[in-house]
Amino acid sequence: MAYVITDNCTKDHLCVDVCPTDCIHPKTDEPKVEEVKQLFVDPVGCIDCGACVPVCPSEAIFAAEDLPEEKKAFLDTNAAYYN
Ligand code: SF4
Ligand code: SF4
Repeated sequence: MAYVITDNCTKDHLCVDVCPTDCIHPKTDEPKVEEVKQLFVDPVGCIDCGACVPVCPSEAIFAAEDLPEEKKAFLDTNAAYYN
């Protein structure tokens, strides 16, 4: 299971800086950053370390198993960004 970013994300990129596996995108220098409404976790790269959760001021990041019912669709939304 990976961590999942939801629509509370404000794209401040604070989580990107602490992710040890570089699995949160798009970064500020990637072209898609302008067109997306939030950032996404690559479920393949995520090692479930949890480092991104406390740095997020918007409470946008959840462990997949802790996603509230109304946010469960973001599991697929995050994975789909990388497909
Ligand atoms: S820290 Fe939170 S609000 Fe900021 S980019 Fe990451 S998920 Fe989005
Ligand atoms: S849980 Fe760890 S590896 Fe996964 S996205 Fe957050 S910081 Fe990156």
